Amino acid sequence: MLPSYEDFCTRVAEVESQMKAACIRAGRPAAEVRLLAVTKTHPAAAAEYAARYGLRAVGENRVQEGMEKRAQCTMPLAWELIGHLQSNKAKLAVAHFDRVQSVDSEKLLRVLAQAAEAQSKTLPVLLQINAGNDPAKFGAEPADAPRLLELALTLPALRVEGLMTIAPLSEDRDVARRTFANLRTIRDTLSAQFGVSLPELSMGMSGDLAEAIAEGSTLVRVGTALFGQR
Ligand SMILES: *Cc1c(COP(=O)(O)O)cnc(C)c1O
Repeated sequence: MLPSYEDFCTRVAEVESQMKAACIRAGRPAAEVRLLAVTKTHPAAAAEYAARYGLRAVGENRVQEGMEKRAQCTMPLAWELIGHLQSNKAKLAVAHFDRVQSVDSEKLLRVLAQAAEAQSKTLPVLLQINAGNDPAKFGAEPADAPRLLELALTLPALRVEGLMTIAPLSEDRDVARRTFANLRTIRDTLSAQFGVSLPELSMGMSGDLAEAIAEGSTLVRVGTALFGQR
């Protein structure tokens, strides 16, 4: 059940204060970290809440679900795809999303670039890296990241803005923290190797956003803490 808009506002304020506290502990300006409201499984009204509150963007993990909600939404909002994308949905993803965060293979890079070119678009993307080496998670292996980026940089219809990861499910907060530190190291190494900046580090969710911010996250993707259990 979607909370009322008033409840939602209280929840966002709580998440924003956690984000701010994490920034202070890390010695980072609060403006460096943005909040992506993850609206998956919730009705289009969840996205309307986010827009009404003044959030810039929402995240969806399925193409079909995201495009249906977007069609119902009247407020200006950026839509980001954060879930696994199959190449046969690449065209739709390019048509209906403002950024794809879940790019994890050469094949997907190629089909997205082809679709973006055909639609005369430049598609912003993040490379999803399995920085926690979790067999249960999608994402390219860290060792494959240079090859992916090298290819991406040859595709003018794509703009690589940074990296994304999901930490393994664990009771131990150090597991998440190590995963996020690893993603940042991978980013720093790629930046130096390829001479590109890769500013966006999309990492941290409801349960581990403080660890992510401590390790340099610039975008936390939060669903449950804003909209309740799915
Ligand atoms: C669902 C989801 C989130 C949000 O998770 P919460 O724990 O509900 O905050 C973040 N990132 C991805 C990729 C997701 O699929």
